[in-house]
Amino acid sequence: METTGMMEAAGAAEAQNKAPRGVRDILPEESWKWAYVSNTVARTMADFGYSEVHLPIFEHTELFSRGVGDTTDIVEKEMYTFVDRGGRSVTLRPEATAGMVRAALEHSLCGQNAAGKLWCWGPMFRYERPQKGRYRQFYQFDAECLGLAGPVADVEVIALSAEIFRRLGLRNLEVVMNSVGCPNCRPRYRKVLIDYFTSKKDVLCGSCIDRLDRNPLRVLDCKVSGCGAVADSAPAIYEHLCDECSAHFEEVKAGLARLGFPYKLDKRLVRGLDYYTKTAYEILSGDLGAQNAVCGGGRYDNLAESIGGPHLPGVGFAAGFDRVVLVMEQQGNSFGRRPQTQVYVAAQDDAARGAVQIFTHKLRQEGISAEQDAGDASRGTRSFKAQMKSANKAGVPWTCIIGGDELAKNLVAVKNMTSGEQVSLPPEEAAAYIRRYIG
Ligand code: AMP
Repeated sequence: METTGMMEAAGAAEAQNKAPRGVRDILPEESWKWAYVSNTVARTMADFGYSEVHLPIFEHTELFSRGVGDTTDIVEKEMYTFVDRGGRSVTLRPEATAGMVRAALEHSLCGQNAAGKLWCWGPMFRYERPQKGRYRQFYQFDAECLGLAGPVADVEVIALSAEIFRRLGLRNLEVVMNSVGCPNCRPRYRKVLIDYFTSKKDVLCGSCIDRLDRNPLRVLDCKVSGCGAVADSAPAIYEHLCDECSAHFEEVKAGLARLGFPYKLDKRLVRGLDYYTKTAYEILSGDLGAQNAVCGGGRYDNLAESIGGPHLPGVGFAAGFDRVVLVMEQQGNSFGRRPQTQVYVAAQDDAARGAVQIFTHKLRQEGISAEQDAGDASRGTRSFKAQMKSANKAGVPWTCIIGGDELAKNLVAVKNMTSGEQVSLPPEEAAAYIRRYIG
């Protein structure tokens, strides 16, 4: 008993000191890259006419069970659901589309004639088996175009995702596309599929046999090799589309061709979420291994109704932030310049420390990033030599020194660390002098 108790205590201590499995900290080494990616995403979204929305991290559980679909992996196995203190079942969002449609309906963000073009980014939560590029808390950026039923909106959404990746310099990408039909033609295709897969039942894996009647389209994207081989020869949905879906699909293809976007048709692409109608697409990276999708999306004309709203067509995409950064790192892409401290302000003696604090603050107010020795009596202040060592270690391009002489004459000694040049200037001029150099 004693030993078990100790092990539990040790386990608990370890659990407190580490992030849960599948969850990670985005540390300074990486977070500045995220800032670059999110700025590029925000600019591109704005160029395409999208407005940002901050959505809640948790929603009523029914939003996802009804919106994403009861028979999907996400709802069946992956949601972080709990009962709150008021006895309501809530769920950490596993994806953003259902929440965005909910928000658009709740706040009337799109009307009869006005499209709602909305985007968001932030963490999503799925209880999946963690591996490289797959986490339990991961980040997505997400664009949703609500209120437009025509194929031009589909093309615009695909073009928007591709443009973000182009601006981020991602190479070796492939757009794969399919149509998953609509409630008009899908039941017919479902029947064709059930007949086909039933004739091959002896080769299918257990879960595919399980979902054959409930969700036969999911058999198409099963990763088990036996099922894959059977799915490869399955009838393609785009040969069974109704006239409307077929015309829509042709126009999306024509639109992509007009913009010069290469794409590949993939009849096995059905996506893991039930709400898709007509267009479904993914953008795959040749540099990611097993988890190779950087982006997935498509049209979802019946989602609003399935969560209790009016008919509201929509099309959108979600891209994996973590994976985009991973690909950029692997491809050696630029993340712009890492923000760096420009100036170290050093006190030559204790009497100058007050003036150092005032001047450092002044530089920061002017938008010049500055650092000082913020030690105090409890931690100990650093000697002038130690401060200069810190400045060198940080690789700052400028140091400003204040000592007895400078204090007496109200000056700051400004030293260019690259050229070694040094000038003494009044504090106001010193800031302007540095600003002239760093722009
Ligand atoms: P989905 O919402 O499943 O269509 O996913 C859209 C995109 O989010 C995918 O293409 C991935 O880039 C990313 N993604 C989905 N699940 C995860 C996960 N568990 N970890 C990291 N990225 C993910």
